Amino acid sequence: MKKIKVLALCAIVAGFATSCQKDDIANETAPEVASVELSKEHQLAVAAAGVNPFDAIYKTVNYPDGTSKKGILAGTKGFQDIFIALDDLANQALNGDLKQYRTNALVSQGRTIRVVGYTGNGFALTSRMRTGLQWAVNNYNRINTSLTFTLSFAATTNGDMIVYNAGGSGAGGQAEFPSGGRPGKFIQILGGMANQNNNVNEHVIGHEMGHALGFRHTDYAQRRCDGSNEGTAGSIGAVHIPGTPTANRWGQAGLDSGSLMISCFDGSEDGEFSAADIRALEFLY
Ligand SMILES: [Zn+2]
Repeated sequence: MKKIKVLALCAIVAGFATSCQKDDIANETAPEVASVELSKEHQLAVAAAGVNPFDAIYKTVNYPDGTSKKGILAGTKGFQDIFIALDDLANQALNGDLKQYRTNALVSQGRTIRVVGYTGNGFALTSRMRTGLQWAVNNYNRINTSLTFTLSFAATTNGDMIVYNAGGSGAGGQAEFPSGGRPGKFIQILGGMANQNNNVNEHVIGHEMGHALGFRHTDYAQRRCDGSNEGTAGSIGAVHIPGTPTANRWGQAGLDSGSLMISCFDGSEDGEFSAADIRALEFLY
């Protein structure tokens, strides 16, 4: 059983005031993480898992149930977006690609997915985050798939997708990919999303839910924010979804630039699926 935990980061830089200010384009990283050089052992393990260890850093993710997980965040410096828990590193074997692109692992058909908007102390979603979550869930229920999404707002981690406020000043979020037929459970929404409007919250949360259901980035081969190629991430995979454009580079002709799963956002998003996003979800589920 592959127990690799992968987090795709989708964090916009706070207020577009730092590294992305020039193009007014946000990125999908957590800018506040401190850079720590990996041990040789971990570099080798990450490379063996098919992820580029260059510029990888250590990071601890805190969950609202009080637990936390230390892992390795890999990717281009400043744009790290693949998280591998240390305790799962040895079990990893890298898998696959999504155009719209998907991971190798998907959620089982026909599931009812209990989404929780977390309201507990220290991790509570703000009003705009809650509205964005409600709208995102509505979007997933509106399309024709075998999945059903329920939504409750509570201080519990008993659910299939727990969406919570991870605090900090950055905007964006991160999610885990599916495993064992279940969606990625914890979706972290960065504190700076409190300052984004409802549509942008709908966009970011819907995007993270997309990762939790197995979507890779539509522009994974050349990201909008930094031009980097996320690659197939080894066993995670980047598998083209039939019926959607094959273009996977930002700026490339035919790229579905309106996809919810574009790697970065600029604060003008409407939060809605593109036509190809819907085709992709309806094909997968
Ligand atoms: Zn993303």
